Amino acid sequence: MRQQMFRAQLLAWYDAHARDLPWRESHDPYRVWLSEIMLQQTRVVAVIAHYHEFLRRFPTVDKLARAREASVLAVWSGLGYYRRARMLHAAAKVVRKQGGKFPETAEGLRKLPGVGRYTAAAIASIAFGEAVAVVDGNVERVLQRFSGQQMRGEEFWAAAEALLDRARPGDFNQAMMELGSTVCTPRAPACLTCPVVELCATRGELEGLAKKARQKKREIHYALACREGAVFLVQRAPDARVMAGMWELPEVNGPRRKGTPAFTVRHSITTTNYTVQVWGNGVFEDIPGKMVAAHRLPKLAMTGLTRKILRRAGLMTASSVQGGRRIP
Ligand code: SF4
Repeated sequence: MRQQMFRAQLLAWYDAHARDLPWRESHDPYRVWLSEIMLQQTRVVAVIAHYHEFLRRFPTVDKLARAREASVLAVWSGLGYYRRARMLHAAAKVVRKQGGKFPETAEGLRKLPGVGRYTAAAIASIAFGEAVAVVDGNVERVLQRFSGQQMRGEEFWAAAEALLDRARPGDFNQAMMELGSTVCTPRAPACLTCPVVELCATRGELEGLAKKARQKKREIHYALACREGAVFLVQRAPDARVMAGMWELPEVNGPRRKGTPAFTVRHSITTTNYTVQVWGNGVFEDIPGKMVAAHRLPKLAMTGLTRKILRRAGLMTASSVQGGRRIP
């Protein structure tokens, strides 16, 4: 009974309050898959602009499969975690080989590169209506607070399966994630506006407020060498652990830094806050790299930090960073 009421109240709330997100306009598996991959570890506002641009460049899974990897990475640029883009491209090729049809079950979807248990369940339930529950960090938090029970690993999946609305699994899964990200938030759950507050075992008092993760601080130095409307960039190694093959400004060590930095930017990656000192013109005959004309920069697969610095230096505009679109 309590579970039935939970489903009914959650879905009624979702029907009335669901955020108007572009990937919710369609149940097309390509769009659902793309949005789920983009949303991994990335904020919704950042995903929206890239989602539109990605679909403009690669409107079908077939177009994506036929694209060069460098083009895919260039459009992905700015979203970070580039392994996702490589896996997306690899999975598109698998789908194309299978006649352009996505597997219609979570089990089948998990065989695609880069598709794990959560993503497979999300696509299967949203695009194909399969009655499988999803569990991500938001869902875990809702389950734990709602039930008042400490859970681990498989216990979350079992609890989510037991609560799932089998008639509307896609909507139910999205509603659970929406509740966790907009109402039952980590630090300050808005229990007064929660659609299931009367059924909730804890009303947010299960655990103390999460302690703010301790952020590390680091200072790094980059050189901005410009000549005749071009800027000097270097390429990361193809087997680098992160951002392999991406272009960036050269890092500079002590002896190359003379005088004072041209400007400073702040940049955060997961648990590290970087203070980035940018040094003015230099000559880099001894570093393998190349001068890139400013008009070619938007098409190049660059690190997010490099884009930020080039934008600050006036070498790229906000609109060129997003391939002609601004984040709304
Ligand atoms: Fe979360 Fe509060 Fe709703 Fe319980 S009542 S599910 S703690 S927002």
